[in-house]
Formats: sequence, C-alpha cells, structure tokens
Amino acid sequence: MDLRLSDELILLRDLARDFSEKRVRPLAPQIEAEHHVPRELIDEMSELGFMGVAIPEEYGGSGMGETGLCLVMEEITRADFAVAVTYGAHASIGAMSVLVGGTPEQKQRFLPDMAAGKLLGCYALTEADAGSDPAAMRTVAVREGDEWVLNGEKVWITNGDMADLATVYAITDREKGARGGVTAFLVPSKTKGFSVGKREEKMGQRGSSTVALAFEDVRIGDDHRLGGVGDGFKIAMATLDRGRLALGANCLGCAREAHALSVDYAKQRKSFGKSIGEHQAIQWMLADSATELFAMESMVYRTAWLCDEEQSFSRESAMTKLFCSEALDRIVDRAVQIHGGMGYSAEYPVEKLYRDARVTRIYEGTSEIQRIVIARDVLRRGS
Ligand SMILES: Cc1cc2nc3c(=O)[nH]c(=O)nc-3n(C[C@H](O)[C@H](O)[C@H](O)COP(=O)(O)OP(=O)(O)OC[C@H]3O[C@@H](n4cnc5c(N)ncnc54)[C@H](O)[C@@H]3O)c2cc1C
Repeated sequence: MDLRLSDELILLRDLARDFSEKRVRPLAPQIEAEHHVPRELIDEMSELGFMGVAIPEEYGGSGMGETGLCLVMEEITRADFAVAVTYGAHASIGAMSVLVGGTPEQKQRFLPDMAAGKLLGCYALTEADAGSDPAAMRTVAVREGDEWVLNGEKVWITNGDMADLATVYAITDREKGARGGVTAFLVPSKTKGFSVGKREEKMGQRGSSTVALAFEDVRIGDDHRLGGVGDGFKIAMATLDRGRLALGANCLGCAREAHALSVDYAKQRKSFGKSIGEHQAIQWMLADSATELFAMESMVYRTAWLCDEEQSFSRESAMTKLFCSEALDRIVDRAVQIHGGMGYSAEYPVEKLYRDARVTRIYEGTSEIQRIVIARDVLRRGS
C-alpha cells in the first residue's frame, strides 16, 4: 500500500521508520520489563524533530501537520506501543491543546520549547468519578486577583510524572456545567502544590507511565489560562479530535506489525504436511486482516488530510478511532489464533501486541462514547 505523500512526508516517514527499527525495536523488551521509556529516546526524537512534528514552523515545529504526526506515530508503534504513547501524550494531546486553545503569545511562549522536547506536555482531563462524563469533574479553579487557585485530583494521566507542563481542566463555574463552566490551564509541574500520585500497573503498554496528579492550592497566573474562561470543554474536545486521529495511527502501526508477524508465521509453520497458510481457514483470517488494514490506513490518512486542509474532521476522527481500535482488536486476536499456542507465549511478540492493543477501545473516549459522538453528529448534520 502506498499513499500519495509529498516528498517531505516520505522523507519523514522513512526517518521515523529507520529510527523505530534501529533505536526503538531493540529497546522494546527492556522498556516492557522495566516499565520505563529511557529519556535518551525522547531526546533523540526531539533531535529528529518528531516532538514538534505537527507544530507549525512559525512556532518552532516541523510544520508537517497531522499527516506527519500520524506517519511518525504509525512507525514508532510498529516497534513499541509504549514509546508511541509516551510520544503521543506530548506531541499530540499535550502540545496540540496549546495549539488549539492558546493565544498567539502563549503559542510563542510554550510551543518552541515543546517542539524542541525541552518542555514535555501532558493532558489532564480524567478524574476518578469523571471519565466518559468529564462534566462531572471536581477539580476547581477559583480566581483571586491575577491568579487562579486550583484544587483537585486527576487520574490516569499519561506522562503525568515526566511532563513539565500539564493542561489541566477545572470547573470555574459549577452552575454552567461542561459548556461554559470548565476552563483549561497550563500548569507547570514545578508549581507549589502540584504532586504526582500512584502509578498504574497496566495490562499492556507497560513502559508508558500513567499516574494520578494532585493539586493542592496550586497558584498560577492568569497568563497560564488556556483560552477564555469557560472555554475549557471546547478546547478539551478539539484536542481530542486530534488525539483520536493520532490514536488511529497507533492502531494502524500495531495492526501492521501483528499482521506481518502472522503472514510470516503462516508461511513457516506446518501442519498436516503443508504450511498453515495453505489452509483456507488461515487464509481467510489473513484476508480479513489485510482488508481491515487497508480500511484503517484509508481512514487515518483521509482524516489527517481533512484536518490539515482545515476542514471539519470531528466526526471522522471519532469514526477513525472507533473503527481502528476495534479492527486492531480483531487483527491482534487473529494474530494470536494464527500463532496457536505460541501466540499465548510471552516469548512471542504477538502476546504483547494483544495486551497493548486492548486499551485503545477505552482511552481518549471509549467505543461507546465514540458511537454517541458520531450518532449525535449524524442526527444533527445528516449522513
Ligand atoms: C492507559 C490509560 C491512559 C490514559 N491516559 C489519559 C490521559 O493522558 N489523560 C486523561 O485525561 N485521561 C486518560 N485516560 C483516561 C481515559 O480517557 C478514561 O479511562 C476513559 O475516557 C473512560 O473513562 P472511565 O475509565 O472513567 O470509564 P467510565 O466512564 O466509568 O465507563 C465505564 C463503562 O461505561 C460505559 N459508558 C459510560 N457512559 C456511557 C454512556 N453514556 N453510554 C454508554 N456507555 C457508557 C463506558 O463506555 C465504559 O464501557 C487514560 C486511561 C488509560 C486506561
């Protein structure tokens, strides 16, 4: 499969592929065992320009848009999902919230350092009792003169313990609820009262850190308010439009890897005197996975194109996330089945891919929430 990419994007994809194969893949077992992505990989991604790949050049980024970000995501995920998620929490939902919601001054102030990987971002929306329903959040921000005072706790925050700057969503007017009552803030992690809590032990993507964050009388200046007072929910959702698209690219990379391993295994493993790939049952699984991969790739890059052309892509991004995460689950499941008992062994890579894939139907909005988003839009704007 090939896409009609510009020469620049082809160079970027090849660079990401090379980095991923030479630097990420060899470290993947260590990252999984130690539950940690080495800082040197982040620094190398910064030097290669990946950290700001979707940040416009005027703000110090590479200006390669969401298409560029998806290409890098796809390639890195092929080698290790945890590295790609660590990368995405910064380059996608971390930096993109500043791009989507920031004033020109805030973009000039924060994005060049984010593009250079000197300032790592994270996105803090979820709370213990507010996941699918973020409007139920309890974190509050109260204005005192030129400052805001934040109190509350977020959970499940990817990169929360390594980020320098967290985009935190807080209630500023409880009466108004999600629309008008939530405001976004850029909170430096060094601010007094900001603390990192429990790290989750996860089924998959174990190298990626996911932690709770607590805010106790955290004081930040009004210049750290992202967007207008009450615009937080809009910024959170616009950032997720981009995040869900990039997550589609994650799913595509992981699915490609599972499928490639399955094709190799089907050719090499024998039963009843022939390779298992000669049995129709295995052929049908391979055909279904290849077909779904083609659909995933088409959705990811068409949606990225819509975003880069500044067209509406919110529904398409939810559809991409929904379809790609569910197709990935089917593809990794087939990969395990094709590998037979070896598919269940931790010695074979498909076992890890199977575990890594499962959460994609949950984070950045569950499949159920994506269906709600899509159906609402279909009913409002038509098919
Ligand atoms: C590994 C990992 C990393 C994460 N990283 C981040 C991060 O960086 N930043 C961040 O802010 N959050 C992050 N999250 C949180 C994630 O986005 C939430 O877990 C997710 O949105 C689901 O929320 P919940 O876990 O509270 O599930 P719940 O909202 O409790 O949902 C439970 C079940 O009920 C269903 N459900 C809920 N409401 C409805 C409805 N109206 N109709 C039908 N079904 C419904 C859900 O689909 C789900 O099946 C992360 C989560 C994980 C697991």
